[in-house]
Amino acid sequence: MPWYRKLHWQIIIGLVLGLVYGIVAAILGWGQFTSDWIAPFGTIFINLLKLIAVPLILASLITGVASLSDLRKLSRIGGKTIAIYMFTTLVALVIGLTIVNVLQPGKTVPPEMRAKLEATYEGDVQEREVLADVTKQRGPLQPLVDIVPENLFDSASSNRNMLQVVFFAIFAGVGLLMVPREKAEPLISFFDGLNALVIKLVELIMVTAPLGVFALLADTINSVARDNINEVGELLAALGYYCLAVILGLAIHGAVTYPVLLKLFTPVKLGRFFSGISPAQLVAFSTSSSGATLPVTMEVTEKNLGVSEEVSSFVLPLGATINMDGTALYQAIAAVFIAQTLGMGLDLAAQLTIVFTALLASIGTAAVPSAGIVMLVIILEAVGVPSQGIALILGVDRILDMLRTVVNVTGDATVATLVATTEDQLDLSVYGTAASVPTASSG
Ligand code: ASP
Repeated sequence: MPWYRKLHWQIIIGLVLGLVYGIVAAILGWGQFTSDWIAPFGTIFINLLKLIAVPLILASLITGVASLSDLRKLSRIGGKTIAIYMFTTLVALVIGLTIVNVLQPGKTVPPEMRAKLEATYEGDVQEREVLADVTKQRGPLQPLVDIVPENLFDSASSNRNMLQVVFFAIFAGVGLLMVPREKAEPLISFFDGLNALVIKLVELIMVTAPLGVFALLADTINSVARDNINEVGELLAALGYYCLAVILGLAIHGAVTYPVLLKLFTPVKLGRFFSGISPAQLVAFSTSSSGATLPVTMEVTEKNLGVSEEVSSFVLPLGATINMDGTALYQAIAAVFIAQTLGMGLDLAAQLTIVFTALLASIGTAAVPSAGIVMLVIILEAVGVPSQGIALILGVDRILDMLRTVVNVTGDATVATLVATTEDQLDLSVYGTAASVPTASSG
């Protein structure tokens, strides 16, 4: 097949064209035209993905859990998955803290620029503080309570509540394992059918991905640069060093931590792994939402990376909601950067508090755009840095959100591959190597 017919190249072309168009539109003042005639296609693309995210989690996780032979296997896979997720997030945090302490990007922001940023984003800061306040005022066990929904339809109605849907699906899957087989069978085949349908829908939606990605990028660039293209330059000059620190951290985690883990513990070929996962990375970049990207992540992890459905249907929905390495890394850098800019030093104890709160925050962060910055308010308050400080970084948050979401999604796929390898559920034929027989799949 010629290269330009491959999906990831088509998406890359859409992305680059969207970028170029966005800049041209900002310069020529096509803002209104872009929001009226281009942006809606991006919204439709994201809506389509979100539309199938909940049915996908329900169908794939219920069938996934119900097809396990027993509950011991579920707790084994579950324990392993959560342990690896925590480990990779810790590594991300250590990378972030090391970089921000070595590079000290906060020392480079001129005081006038600091005052200006604080004034410009005052209103936005208040909005996020209110949101963070609501989160903070809850009891210590509230996050646990939040996982258990009182009404399934309520939780299914918002992508912010995805963890509740994950909970219900696992719960129902466990129940199905326990009821007599002949009673469970019709339900399992129903969800199996639903699963097949959703997978087909993902394929159909992905045909429109190049256009969707074009529209999303064009709109993002346009709304950032519209009317204030000069200010964007100024902003980048002041915050460029901070952005570089975040990008460097994300690049190290994505290009070193994950490949090392894959090389050490799995037989996959790295080139194949990264080209296989690239459609999901591109969608993550354009949508800034690992929740919306989940259907694509699942499709490519199974089809291109050879991870069995049993593993991917469990590991990926869980990962999309609780595993956010990119977000944690960014939060560590941002928190210390803000402290540095405000002239506050953070000692070792404060930095350890950042590690701990960021680890928990990344679990609690919803898989939607800009969720990370709301949680950042809580981290800042935990170490005594004024949360108004987020004003300093809001201006460049959108682009960093896109990049950290790519890392979040790559992390989920990496862990799925690791878990599949240890469970002997990785189909190596997709790598052009002798096929491994996924022995455990039938239980
Ligand atoms: N946008 C990120 C995600 O969905 C979360 C965040 O860091 O804001 O993965």
